[in-house]
Amino acid sequence: MMQAPTMHDLFEEFKGRYKNPNYTWGLYWRARWTEQIALYLRLGFHTIAIQKGLKVPVANTPWKKEESLSRQRMMDYTEQGFNLAIVAGFCKPKITILDYDSKDLTTSLQDAMQKTLTCSTPNGFAFFLRGTATTKAWESLKTKYPWFDTIRDAVNYELAPLSKTCTRDKGGAEHNCEVHDYRIRTWINPATAPMDFDDFVEII
Ligand SMILES: [Zn+2]
Repeated sequence: MMQAPTMHDLFEEFKGRYKNPNYTWGLYWRARWTEQIALYLRLGFHTIAIQKGLKVPVANTPWKKEESLSRQRMMDYTEQGFNLAIVAGFCKPKITILDYDSKDLTTSLQDAMQKTLTCSTPNGFAFFLRGTATTKAWESLKTKYPWFDTIRDAVNYELAPLSKTCTRDKGGAEHNCEVHDYRIRTWINPATAPMDFDDFVEII
């Protein structure tokens, strides 16, 4: 149920919802990206361009420099099929992203992902939070929930919806497997915003 969807799943959803023959998949997909890009600008997210179907930045882009993509550049990249990522430490205000590398969730985590912006990833979830975590708070969180395996709060990035990657991609410059199992990152509840890290720890 919470598995990140395939492109086919999203296409079936589109076909079920829109019966006007003039409204094509291409137009729909562009509208979905436009909506995401508006969200990233509204939340002050710092975005960078990522290679098509992969997790690594577009070659020769100075992504570690403190300059986010403009709305137009984000539109251009995504129309050509590139992925986008969000650099946690460059967002204004700063955010902290927690990777949870499993689809197994407690009731309190399921509840929390409705209250803070949370992305489904090919193998789990990424929780987007405001502020920064102390090392102590992060360590105790990992002890309570061992599936939290990465914290991003500096010059490191998380792929953003509607980026596409293979479930078997470990993040290298190249990825080859016999038949890719591509998944599209989507928000669990797109109507939320990142909540404070401390409040998150309290409710889970
Ligand atoms: Zn693959």
